[in-house]
Amino acid sequence: MDLDRRSLFSGALRHRGSQQSDAEQLALKQKYQARLKEVEAMEPLSGLSLPTLLVEHRLSRRNFMMWASAMTAALMLPPIFEKQVAEAASLLNRVPVIWIEGQDCAGNSEAFIRSAGPTVEELLFQTISLEYHETLMAAAGFQSELRKQTAAQMYKGKYVLVVEGAIPQGESGAYCTIGAAGQTFYQEVQQLSAGAALVIGAGACAYYGGIPKAYPNPTNAVGVSSVVSGTPVINIPACPMNPINFVGTLIHYILTGAAPALDSTGRPIWAFGNLIHNNCERRAHFDAGEYVQQWGDLGAQNNFCLYKMGCKGPFTYNNCSIVRYNEGTNWPIGVGHGCIGCSQPEFWDTLAYERPMIDANIHAPGIAGLGVEAGADKFGLGLLAVVGVGIVAHAIASAAGGREKVPAAVSSSNTDAPSGGTTEKKEGE
Ligand code: SF4
Ligand code: SF4
Repeated sequence: MDLDRRSLFSGALRHRGSQQSDAEQLALKQKYQARLKEVEAMEPLSGLSLPTLLVEHRLSRRNFMMWASAMTAALMLPPIFEKQVAEAASLLNRVPVIWIEGQDCAGNSEAFIRSAGPTVEELLFQTISLEYHETLMAAAGFQSELRKQTAAQMYKGKYVLVVEGAIPQGESGAYCTIGAAGQTFYQEVQQLSAGAALVIGAGACAYYGGIPKAYPNPTNAVGVSSVVSGTPVINIPACPMNPINFVGTLIHYILTGAAPALDSTGRPIWAFGNLIHNNCERRAHFDAGEYVQQWGDLGAQNNFCLYKMGCKGPFTYNNCSIVRYNEGTNWPIGVGHGCIGCSQPEFWDTLAYERPMIDANIHAPGIAGLGVEAGADKFGLGLLAVVGVGIVAHAIASAAGGREKVPAAVSSSNTDAPSGGTTEKKEGE
């Protein structure tokens, strides 16, 4: 993560800390310091330490501090907490983690392990004391079962349980059994969550059921929050979840010993508190009514807004437009495809199709006044409400009164128009 990315974070995210007085920040810093001392006194559980891994992978301390600086901004903390975030990251080897998988593709695990060069998040993942992970561990059969049970007993009340994948409830859970004893995944989640300090739902399937829960949901799959009771659940959706959001959640846990502030669906507000539309690099084109109309047109060549190609950014809460993927290399909209809303509940049934949720060419009497000038939050919530009552075809851009522009070469045969040139499209055309 480079310095540019740090400034991008700082600019795009409103620091929660900036709303606090100096005295409040100082009190919080002291609280974090006391907690860090407590964690530091614990025995390291993993043989791998972050400083050693940084040296092995030729990542300098400066690189790491730049990463810590960006992570601090991502957590919506002011810069005075950077040192503590770095310290918390180096203490991740004190956290025992049990990672189980049900109905999934292992994409969230792979998000950590499949890249050309290790990112800081990947190195941190190596330092975590991963007591059990079906996909990554060498043990199999009864041996791995024993490993899981031993870890659950040894670290009772202290371990973080990561659940990846949906949980089928149909046929008494028989659609997904785990291990040599054939226990259902449903039972496994219930038993292991009861002894955990915290449960993390990793990815879209653990969040709301993902693909397994999509219509007609033949296995009666559900997300982890529907199965766990009595232990805090933090959902980190997206398909896959972004490693930075997972590591950030663990760092927050090390700093505070608790779950971060969550929204009504259990997602950390620091990561899922903003619509991606608010921080999208194509937003100026949306505001100007400049859209890609078909794949490969001049609008696409000029990185116009993808709303008409089905982008669901105005309905999707996530920080991917800021933190991006693969160490900030890029994200779906950056490479030319609209958002399919992968961090929203039930997105396979409601958002993942390549057409606009609401037809941008037709006026929308039911949402009068909700044009492109509307604030994105109002826009997203308003449209979701409209869809919720079953009204399907409505306008957004044209609600602003003939403001829509389309690339000249697309709207007519005028291929002489300058690249990226636009033609005013009059109301009613
Ligand atoms: S509709 Fe999609 S592409 Fe357009 S500005 Fe919003 S998030 Fe970006
Ligand atoms: S752009 Fe949309 S679909 Fe893509 S990762 Fe972000 S939230 Fe998910």
